[in-house]
Amino acid sequence: MSDASRNLPTNRILASLPPEDSAHLASVSRIERPAQGRILNRSSESGTDIWFPLQGAIALTTTDASGRAVQTGMVGCEGCVGLQALFGPGIPSPDAVVQIEGAMSVISANHLRAAMDVRPPIQVALTKFLYGLSAESLQTIACNRLHSMLSRCCRWLLTMQDKAKSDDLRLTQEDLATLLGGGRPRVNVILAALEKNGILRRYRGRIHLLTRAGLEQHSCECYRRVRDASELLDIAPSRNPTVTSVTDS
Ligand SMILES: [Zn+2]
Repeated sequence: MSDASRNLPTNRILASLPPEDSAHLASVSRIERPAQGRILNRSSESGTDIWFPLQGAIALTTTDASGRAVQTGMVGCEGCVGLQALFGPGIPSPDAVVQIEGAMSVISANHLRAAMDVRPPIQVALTKFLYGLSAESLQTIACNRLHSMLSRCCRWLLTMQDKAKSDDLRLTQEDLATLLGGGRPRVNVILAALEKNGILRRYRGRIHLLTRAGLEQHSCECYRRVRDASELLDIAPSRNPTVTSVTDS
């Protein structure tokens, strides 16, 4: 591990490993800071790398045959993207696009596959993450059918804050509209109301979150359900210490 990487935040999967396994993966990894908007994995191509965010967040986006795109998930410091590369070419996957910039640890599929063959804790950690991601996706299906756009918006802002470990989200209203499956004007009305209530502040191309309490008050139960499941699996991203929460006090 280099001096530069020693001071970086940690990825939840890598941090959960025994020291010898963590050290091995560090020895075959590199640190990159991909720019916002960079596509790390395309659904139509076979990737060769697995990306473990130390900061920032990666959006998972699914596009239909007509080119319409919907954001179907988000991965931050609790997980990784690109695991389909372990299984060879042709495995379908969503596009993985950098939503919020940050440092990421990158490991080639060949190195990770070889490590998994002889290091069971790596297999367990990745299986836990994939189970958690599956549970989150199932909850999102229900959320999209049952809950209002306001409550879903607050849920995603809380989720992104956790995953990116930041109160400052590089996120446009267009991004949120894609994530929520709604029109930009409606998202604008919701964000304006949250801003008026002192919950967040809007800037050009970013949203600054001021208080978790307000977001939790308006969020649907899905945030807490996914969070509780992640904590039981011991895969939840660590709490951001710079923001306040009614449930933390
Ligand atoms: Zn919900």
